[in-house]
Amino acid sequence: MDSNILKIEIERLIKGPIKRDYELPPADFDLLEDREFSFREPVKGSITAKLAGPHNVLVEGTIATTAKVECVRCLHELKIPLTVSFQTVFLPTPEDAERFDDPQDDDRLYYKGDMLDPREQMREELMLALPALPSCEHESMRDCPHGRELGDMASAATPAAEEAPEPAPNSWQAQLDRVRRELDS
Ligand SMILES: [Zn+2]
Repeated sequence: MDSNILKIEIERLIKGPIKRDYELPPADFDLLEDREFSFREPVKGSITAKLAGPHNVLVEGTIATTAKVECVRCLHELKIPLTVSFQTVFLPTPEDAERFDDPQDDDRLYYKGDMLDPREQMREELMLALPALPSCEHESMRDCPHGRELGDMASAATPAAEEAPEPAPNSWQAQLDRVRRELDS
């Protein structure tokens, strides 16, 4: 699939909304390496574009992909699923270039000519969805070993923990036991 799938022909919007399903490599969104995150899996979803006013274009849709990153606590490599919904209005590029110098216009997004490519904005939306402190909790079905140790320390303070002499799998007692067993064998 070509990244042109996301380009919206402004002329065609006069006839009605344009809806497209897409599945593209992360490189098409300039996503291969960003800070500590890396992207290897396809970026997919759907977008719908329609006129909002005579020239403004409303683009809404979804972006789904997976980001790879290390847990900030245990350094385990995580695959964090991301699904983002977005809704953005693009304005035609103003004739008067001075309008770009108006600080009030900073948040506005423009399309140029007769074609609108929302990819850059979609990339921004995805970046905003990335966790600031990625940890095992962001990956489903995984407990952070580090987080679990913290949990054990908390429960050890309660009397009930004294009835459970079995050391946690990653506690220093368990590790010492393993080393001893290895030395004995
Ligand atoms: Zn972790």
